[in-house]
Amino acid sequence: MIRVLFAADDAIWPEWSSPLRDAFAARGLEVDLNRHHRPEDVDAIVCAPNGPVQDFRPYDRARLVQTLWAGVEGIVGNETLAQPLARMVDPGLTEGMVEYVIAHVLRHHLGIDRILRSQDGHWNPTVPPLARDRKVTVLGLGALGAASAVQLAALRFKVTGWSASQKDIAGVSCLSGPETLKDALRSAEILVLLLPLTSETEGLIDAAALGHLPTGAVIINPGRGGLIVDADLLAALETGAVRHATLDTFRVEPLPHDHPFWSHPGVTVTPHIASATRPETAAAVVAENLARAMTDKPILHLVDRTRGY
Ligand code: NAP
Repeated sequence: MIRVLFAADDAIWPEWSSPLRDAFAARGLEVDLNRHHRPEDVDAIVCAPNGPVQDFRPYDRARLVQTLWAGVEGIVGNETLAQPLARMVDPGLTEGMVEYVIAHVLRHHLGIDRILRSQDGHWNPTVPPLARDRKVTVLGLGALGAASAVQLAALRFKVTGWSASQKDIAGVSCLSGPETLKDALRSAEILVLLLPLTSETEGLIDAAALGHLPTGAVIINPGRGGLIVDADLLAALETGAVRHATLDTFRVEPLPHDHPFWSHPGVTVTPHIASATRPETAAAVVAENLARAMTDKPILHLVDRTRGY
């Protein structure tokens, strides 16, 4: 019997317990999944980075710590964690993110706000451009960024993608490394941020980076709030260098009620809902990784502690 500890907010236990148990059984694993195991008995931990287990030292038998979240900045630096750490790559999470990105890119590309504002009896037949005439840059070409870039390219946007290592994605002009960031930004009429938050990406979108964007660019940030220097973005919105920012993630969440983003006409705030891990699709991913961990096969989506993601 494999003992798996579920170490996340009690409120989400009801939505996870059955899908996980079903997925373990479907993978042929005999698992005792529970919220309360003796630490020394635990073979694997399924956790949220903000969950009840913050000291991993007593779980010295555990062969896997599988997070339920894609973003691992809240756990990767935990010095008590010596076990292999896997981040969440979930088809449902990816689908949700692609839908968010496409919706918000199309909103700005088609000028949907302008259309909604002009229900005033004045006939103004301004025809929007085609996607093929719009340049979109996606920073981060991992599970979420690559999937978003592919679908943007399928809509015929001119897509540039940027990542740490070089990628080859059909229909996407792929750049890599810090020296090409400027080029990626220069072509970003619409900029989508899907980078993880690490020591290298913290504050990446500062005044200097914003200065490389074409005038009137739009920023969409479902990545992490810490990627952006808030004061620099607000300054760029004031001058019109940036026309609009649609922000889903923030340095402090929930976004404090007196933060200027709430009332700025050039900012749309969405409350970290771009996408979520879906138990019905993610459970199979957890089961696969558990099976691998228990048979010493390579664990999927292993976090690199030095890179921080
Ligand atoms: P991922 O698969 O780890 O991909 C990260 C991408 O960023 C990779 O392409 C990586 O390059 C690139 N990257 C990392 N550091 C870089 C650097 N210094 N310079 C250039 N590129 C760099 O992550 P993911 O699953 O796509 O998720 C991305 C982020 O989305 C998460 O970390 C999380 O913060 C955020 N997220 C938000 C929500 C939401 O609801 N708002 C939901 C889920 C996730 P390589 O490919 O070369 O390694």
